[in-house]
Amino acid sequence: MNIDHPVLRHRRQLEGLGFSAPWLALFDIDSTLMDTTPRNLAILAAARGRIPGLDACWDRLDLSRPFWDIGEPLRRAGIEDRGLFEELRAFWTERFFTDEWLIHDRPYPGAAELLADLKNDGFTLAYLTGRHSPGMEVGTRRSFLEYGLPAGPEEIFFFKPDFAMEDEAFKASVCDELGRRGTLVVAIDNEPANSNLFHRAFPRALAVWLDTVTSPLPATLDAGIERRGPDIFRSWS
Ligand SMILES: [Mg+2]
Repeated sequence: MNIDHPVLRHRRQLEGLGFSAPWLALFDIDSTLMDTTPRNLAILAAARGRIPGLDACWDRLDLSRPFWDIGEPLRRAGIEDRGLFEELRAFWTERFFTDEWLIHDRPYPGAAELLADLKNDGFTLAYLTGRHSPGMEVGTRRSFLEYGLPAGPEEIFFFKPDFAMEDEAFKASVCDELGRRGTLVVAIDNEPANSNLFHRAFPRALAVWLDTVTSPLPATLDAGIERRGPDIFRSWS
């Protein structure tokens, strides 16, 4: 990695302030490292064969734009069938949060390379995700290895202990442990609330909000957080 790389530059600044290794680089997974659009599209395509109402309106759907909520392509097409939405959401929920469907995700271009570079430059990679361990850890590790993202014994994964736990509360609960593991240099997440959380807990770290998709009604991003698109991986790797 070039000596003027923003993350290395930031690490040097922290070093100058007296901070020391181990250096941590923190990443969310869904819609940060991994594009979940293909998982959503695969579930939607599977639903088409099982939910007759969906098949009837299929040709009206614009599937070229990413979406967070499975009902979004229908809403965009002006469809307001509550029963259909509920049926589709139930079908999606049964699948989206399972090991089996994670293999459809794809890393954003350059993500694998950036992670490898950071690791090579002495960073400990930490993945802090809203995915729950009982239902999604096996599939997460499998897809990381499949697409060349570091997922060995040196990498730290933080999975939720159970599905029902709220993502932001889980991420907040991990901050103390992160602080004990080393010096956080950079934290990247696609949910503004999570970026705010890291920025507040680790004010000296480089907090980046990744503009991909967010859950509905996203929080207002705090000042001092860098806003970037997924091209950050290519420009940073
Ligand atoms: Mg995410």
